[in-house]
Amino acid sequence: METKIVKLGINGEGIGYVQKKPVFIPGALPEEVVEFRIVNKQPRYLEGKLERVKKKSPYRIRPVCPHQGRCDGCPLMVLNESEQRKLKQENFVQTMQKYANISEKVMEPMIDNPNPFAYRNQCKLPVVMEKGKIVNAMYMQNSNFTVPIRTCYVQEVGLEKMRQAILDVLNAYHLSAYDHAKKKGIRYLVIRGLDDQYQCTLVTGEDYFPESLSEDLMKIKGLKSLYQSIQTTKNTPNIFGKKMIHLAGAKTIEFHLDDIVMRLSVQSFFQLNTKQAKTMYRLVKEMVPMNCDWILEGYSGIGGISLYLKDHAKEITGVEYIESAVRNANENAKRNHADHVHFVAGDAAEVMTRMLKKRTPDVIIVDPPRAGLDDAMMETLLRSKAKQIIYISCNPSTLAKNLAVLQDRYLVKRMVLLDMFSQTQHVESITLLIKKK
Ligand code: SAH
Repeated sequence: METKIVKLGINGEGIGYVQKKPVFIPGALPEEVVEFRIVNKQPRYLEGKLERVKKKSPYRIRPVCPHQGRCDGCPLMVLNESEQRKLKQENFVQTMQKYANISEKVMEPMIDNPNPFAYRNQCKLPVVMEKGKIVNAMYMQNSNFTVPIRTCYVQEVGLEKMRQAILDVLNAYHLSAYDHAKKKGIRYLVIRGLDDQYQCTLVTGEDYFPESLSEDLMKIKGLKSLYQSIQTTKNTPNIFGKKMIHLAGAKTIEFHLDDIVMRLSVQSFFQLNTKQAKTMYRLVKEMVPMNCDWILEGYSGIGGISLYLKDHAKEITGVEYIESAVRNANENAKRNHADHVHFVAGDAAEVMTRMLKKRTPDVIIVDPPRAGLDDAMMETLLRSKAKQIIYISCNPSTLAKNLAVLQDRYLVKRMVLLDMFSQTQHVESITLLIKKK
């Protein structure tokens, strides 16, 4: 079959139409005429597999990565970067207009990613066997199957070197990839690197490793912290298991963001693009007035945003449900001499609802996961008397849905888009909302 691609879908696929029904075709780009085969027929849409590009997009480029097209990681790598940003911005504008009726006038052009490649400071990659050795893999598009990868071009160069060095040591010990039947072997390699200090977690079955393995791994230059996490649950979205063992080195790694010094532990979330995280924090700082009494931040992770704002308020409170992240955040406040900044563990909606009943902050900041704000949080924000809300989002669909409701009481004043995840379909944004009179 043949179709003309008219639009980029939210998962980075091309969208065409066949007898008025949308067909989603991964790998096809807007403006292209493509031949495809139907692989999934649904009442309201079709899914196609790209067979041949008959008319190429002028923006199509040859991808640098040999795994592109099979690996699920970077669907937009076949598109030149300025066109990636243009299409992501257009999709963002359309989503905001369609679902929340927000004027394009408040939306600013997407800020470039200074490193469109080699920007990720962390990896969580499955481990598979290839020719008797363990290698990393990535999931294939829409499936649980994996494709072995050599180099990942969106990961920082130092991270890639560290990953290879770790694999070399694991292979010198003739270790194997995870075997569900035996509950033994290496399942994932999780590595994070900030300021050239690396933390590695081997996610494994019920394996005991010789002391010398940890010693040999810790000889790798830059590796500062080593953990093992035992995860034997089948088909779980959680990479880490409940049992986390500190094998060697420091428990946390330390890094700097502008003039803030931070530490984080294995289970804590941190932004995966360090440079763009700083850009984002600086933008939030620019949006928040000086001389506030109280700022309340939900989904605060290890506390970066609140600490950037430390000179803007007499008191700042962050709420986060991962306890180790809350511990990191409170220690980070001390480390930065911010005794007026505190972090509390718990569900953001629950804790913030309770707090807001007693007291009104000048500014509320939220940075929820992809699912966006839940009903309880929406209810609380709608009732709040805060003059200003800043909503940081990594998912335009849930953002638009939430803003459509928040606009009852708050005016969308400014939206800044950030290219944080180049080569992928993801869009990060910061929305400034002002309380209506
Ligand atoms: N603003 C932070 C982290 C944002 S990511 C930063 O810049 O680093 C979202 C965070 O929300 C994660 O740390 C996650 O653990 C936390 N989280 C997810 N659901 C939550 C909930 N219901 N209540 C509180 N925190 C939650």
